[in-house]
Amino acid sequence: MNEGITESETVRDVVIVGSGVAGLSAAVYAARADLEPLVLEGPEPGGQLTLTTDVENYLGFPEGVGGMDLIQRGREQAERFGAEFTHGTVERATLEERPFELDLSSGDVLRTRALIVATGASARWVGATNEDELMGYGLSTCATCDGAFHRGDDVLVIGGGDSAMEEALFLAKFADSVTVVHRRDELRASEVMTRRALEHDDIEFRWNTELLEIHGSQEAGVTGATLVSHPDGRPTEKLDADLDVDQVEIGVGGIFYGVGHVPNTAFLENTAVDLDDDGQLLTLEGMTTETAVEGVFGAGDVMDPDYRQAVTAAGTGSMAALDAESWLDERTSQQEVSVVADVSASD
Ligand code: NAP
Repeated sequence: MNEGITESETVRDVVIVGSGVAGLSAAVYAARADLEPLVLEGPEPGGQLTLTTDVENYLGFPEGVGGMDLIQRGREQAERFGAEFTHGTVERATLEERPFELDLSSGDVLRTRALIVATGASARWVGATNEDELMGYGLSTCATCDGAFHRGDDVLVIGGGDSAMEEALFLAKFADSVTVVHRRDELRASEVMTRRALEHDDIEFRWNTELLEIHGSQEAGVTGATLVSHPDGRPTEKLDADLDVDQVEIGVGGIFYGVGHVPNTAFLENTAVDLDDDGQLLTLEGMTTETAVEGVFGAGDVMDPDYRQAVTAAGTGSMAALDAESWLDERTSQQEVSVVADVSASD
């Protein structure tokens, strides 16, 4: 299957879209239930954990575990029970008919009885001028991937949550100076991460400040930034409302975004699966991974706006596989009952 997919006539029991911790956990459970799941690895194989350094709060690893290591182990575990993996990005899902059809960007079509959506979320951008041109040229959403390019630089980290603190702490190993730019005067990050960042000698903070423009070119990389600030916070909103804001231009060699993530649900927009205004996949009320479309289940960050932890993603992944398994069992027994009924009626 890794050489590409040419199986439009084959109907799978379960396709899992996404190979992050939620998709892998679903794959382990579905494979152990003999559902022979196919896992689609999209544009960010392994998901957000592959961009993390140490995961310190995943149960069972008292010394912590590398994000990439955890993902590789999960994949091996799923493969051991018979899960298959292939690269593929779903462009469109047709969920009105059964089996469901998934059109992939390669032109291939997959057909499946049950679908587990574990597509996670991708890094959010802030909307600063020139970010399209400079992303990958000194502007990055991943300190662990690109931090080492910034040895001796002055760098900015944008954001006030755990991601931004993690990026700042990582970058402090390489950069000459790290400045966290946060739009309010209070961090959103957890207490432990906040403390580590605030107590770090090489990390500074610019409060009530936002990034307006990035300077530089693809040849020269990032060379500077225009920042705006307002004592009441969220300065770009004040700027839009024609209020006075302080504006300053500074020289920097790198900028890292750590402003959260956007759920990857574009392929579900024209389906009956419910999404909220932020594109988050909505599951049914109560403790379930079922969605508004029977046979479609959600797991991980794509359906969880609150917890978004590796361990909770693994938990919802296992729930989705269990939910899919019992739904498939129910459908099979219903079909058996109706076949028996048809046969008796024709006797
Ligand atoms: P987050 O908690 O949603 O924080 C996003 C931060 O970016 C907030 O401070 C937000 O500001 C800011 N922000 C959002 N949009 C912005 C914009 N357009 N311009 C400027 N600033 C903007 O996201 P996260 O930090 O990625 O964390 C997500 C989840 O993953 C959390 O549950 C977190 O605990 C978890 N996580 C844990 C770890 C760890 O434990 N090591 C590491 C990473 C993530 P406001 O505060 O003003 O809204």
